[in-house]
Amino acid sequence: MKKIEKRALLCLLLAGALLAGTVLFVGRFLVNGSSWASFLPVFSGQPATGRVLDRDGDVLTWVDEDGKRRYYDGATVREATLHAVGDAEGRIGTGALVAFADRLSGYNLLTGSYSPLGQGNDLYLTLDARYNYIAYQALGGRKGAVGVYNYKTGEILCMVSAPSFDPANPPDIQDGDERYDGVYLNRFLSGTFTPGSVYKTVTLAAAIENIPDLYDRTWTCTGSTTVGDGTVTCPYAHGEQDIYAALSNSCNGVFALLADELGEDVLARYTEKAGLTASYSVNGIRTAAGSFSLDGLTANELGWAGVGQYNDLVNPCALMVYMGAIGGGGRAAVPELILKTENALGLPSLPAFTKQTGTLIAADTAERLADMMGRNVTDQYGSSRFPNMDICAKSGTAEVGGGKSPHAWFAGFLRNEDAPYAFVVLVENGGSGADVAGAVAAQVLDAVVNGY
Ligand SMILES: [Zn+2]
Repeated sequence: MKKIEKRALLCLLLAGALLAGTVLFVGRFLVNGSSWASFLPVFSGQPATGRVLDRDGDVLTWVDEDGKRRYYDGATVREATLHAVGDAEGRIGTGALVAFADRLSGYNLLTGSYSPLGQGNDLYLTLDARYNYIAYQALGGRKGAVGVYNYKTGEILCMVSAPSFDPANPPDIQDGDERYDGVYLNRFLSGTFTPGSVYKTVTLAAAIENIPDLYDRTWTCTGSTTVGDGTVTCPYAHGEQDIYAALSNSCNGVFALLADELGEDVLARYTEKAGLTASYSVNGIRTAAGSFSLDGLTANELGWAGVGQYNDLVNPCALMVYMGAIGGGGRAAVPELILKTENALGLPSLPAFTKQTGTLIAADTAERLADMMGRNVTDQYGSSRFPNMDICAKSGTAEVGGGKSPHAWFAGFLRNEDAPYAFVVLVENGGSGADVAGAVAAQVLDAVVNGY
């Protein structure tokens, strides 16, 4: 009798374990099924089948009848959209072919890995290939990144990383070939760079809130300012300036003094609040977090950190979102790359909800900063370069050492109700931010806003 009881108990335990395992599997299947399915083509030897299109339906890549992946007919567009679309070998991990493989494979719970017609899904990116083409041409063979997005909806309209290559004719890239330095990296999403003066928008936000007589002060720049036990230099003597002129002149001396007065804790707090040390999820792609060592610095080091030098590193996408938050009154939409997917029967996916960032800057500070950045354009950069745009911007010319030319930056946003765009342009070793990166921004924004 005891033997039977023991066996019954064992059976009961085994049945219980089976049930628990089944529940666990079904649960994980429901949650993770689509990402499991994205691995299937790799294991079964079948390429991912879906098409990737831009926002107005230009087909950027598809698979032909022979199972070969094809790309848009136009080499410059192929190069300009490479980092967004990805390559057939999957080396560009943040490209749609890898990062959005689950949505391309046509996976669903009813039919499993295969869509009804066996073709995979159509995945529409938020990008317009034409804007990418213009941005890539404007970079003119120089390395860098360009991003434009709608800070109210989150849609990224333009995203370019250079260097690039033609995915239809991939080159044989040797290690150490300067021309293809970091070519598989999407600099916009995954790179970090010395920001230089674009970072003054953070130092200034901290100063607006923590230095009560900021607007009553004046400074006289002789081209070299003593900060702590060293100097902070400007390209030339800026003379007497109030805070508006110090920003439009981008006076290192003034901003180094402000940073030293604010202290490293305050500067670190505003940098973190601005989202510049955070990683965003762009439809599941994690952006690189910037890094700032603002701890245990001398007064002079802190001064240089306050003008975006020293060990400051910023991610272009995060900087663009901060610009969007200044334009948006403190918060911005989190960037997105997927407009929608459509299955082989033409049924679209459900629209995604726009996600918002936290408060990256207080609303009244954002308004003051926006006004000052607007004056940068009228006083320094030239409004005529940006027709029909109520544009606010900050340039940066970031010294990178090693005898190399500085990185050129131009970042900002439009206040136009019908064109709520934030943007960032980085030209590596490009020289002057306002001239070089500003010229790239002007061309891309003209296309986006005025349709050229
Ligand atoms: Zn100066």
